[in-house]
Amino acid sequence: MTATTLFYIIIAIIIVNFIIDKILDALNAKHFNDAIPNELKDVYDDAEYKKSQAYKLTNYKFGVWSSTFSIALTLAFICFGGFEYVDVLARRFSDNSIVIALVFFGIIMFGSDILSTPFSYYKTFVIEERFGFNKTTIKTFILDKVKGLLMMAVIGGGILALIIYIFQLTQQHFWLYAWAIITIFSVFMNMFYAKLIVPLFNKQTPLEESSLRHKISEYAQSVGFNLEKIFVIDGSKRSTKANAYFSGFGNEKRVTLYDTLINDLEEEEIVAVLAHEVGHYKRKHIIYNLVASVLLTGLTLYVLSIFITNPLLSNALGVSTHSFHVGLVAFGLLYAPISEITGLVMNWLSRKFEYQADDYAKNTYKAQPLITALKKLNKNSLSNLTPHKAYVFVHYSHPTLLQRMRNLNL
Ligand SMILES: [Zn+2]
Repeated sequence: MTATTLFYIIIAIIIVNFIIDKILDALNAKHFNDAIPNELKDVYDDAEYKKSQAYKLTNYKFGVWSSTFSIALTLAFICFGGFEYVDVLARRFSDNSIVIALVFFGIIMFGSDILSTPFSYYKTFVIEERFGFNKTTIKTFILDKVKGLLMMAVIGGGILALIIYIFQLTQQHFWLYAWAIITIFSVFMNMFYAKLIVPLFNKQTPLEESSLRHKISEYAQSVGFNLEKIFVIDGSKRSTKANAYFSGFGNEKRVTLYDTLINDLEEEEIVAVLAHEVGHYKRKHIIYNLVASVLLTGLTLYVLSIFITNPLLSNALGVSTHSFHVGLVAFGLLYAPISEITGLVMNWLSRKFEYQADDYAKNTYKAQPLITALKKLNKNSLSNLTPHKAYVFVHYSHPTLLQRMRNLNL
């Protein structure tokens, strides 16, 4: 194997990945105008259906433009020695390999963020605005960007620095320690995400005493579930789209409802959505997901440890001095096909879990309000009611509305 061969493999992986993605998008787009199945006829009226068609098409075209721009830029960066340039630049700051790595990733992350900002600006303030979803102000948009970058610098930079430090001490055994650190960090984040990270971006208030709160408590008691922490989050600060999610475990478990969800749904429907979330907890999906991601991380780090010391990795990207950070980039690009496959498995598992959570809601509460809730949520986000099978298989973490309805009606 030579560096040139490896270079072509990396380029081929990026291009093939892009082509597969575009084929899936096009397949899906071909079915935008399919007849809506009878069971879903009541989701949209004619005007809303037309609007949803336009929304799908607009997003599809936007996706083609933005992903083409992104791949062109990535390929140009690799082919014209971008990594070598940034690596040499980073080495001017220090002789310390941790500092070099931090500067290197800092430049690349910041640069790609700047370049992608016009696209996210357009998505939020042109597309989402045109279809009536956007509630984000320019100020929120900028603050989100700044906070996101700072968070990545602190957390991402911290973990990277720690891992390189361990690599220097333990060489090929570093993966075991890195695995332990990332695992501890993931569990910690799972527990305290709502307390530490969410408040940086949103306001959360406990759901006040009300008939809704009463209905929720009544349901929770009926299934022997201790649900003290129910929070309402100000999702309406950014978008009209609604959501609800479960996070943490043990004493830290909590349910978060978007204020938009409370506005859009009837009380019984909200309890049904909550019953679905309780189902995820009761069927241990949160634990399974955490275990699966810990195992996948272990596998990735182990494979990384085999290759990371090989200078071919850096040379393939046109970088003459081999280092952990450039090796990491090359490894990430080469590992993409494997992470695509594990992504498929995780999505498949996630769809299984959704059915189980729906079944739990059906068996411990009612199916009907969950069905009407799902219909409203799909309608209010102008979602695609006729996605292509292959697209669903690759990209959907939830079954389609039709599939969930059929399962709930069983
Ligand atoms: Zn779910």
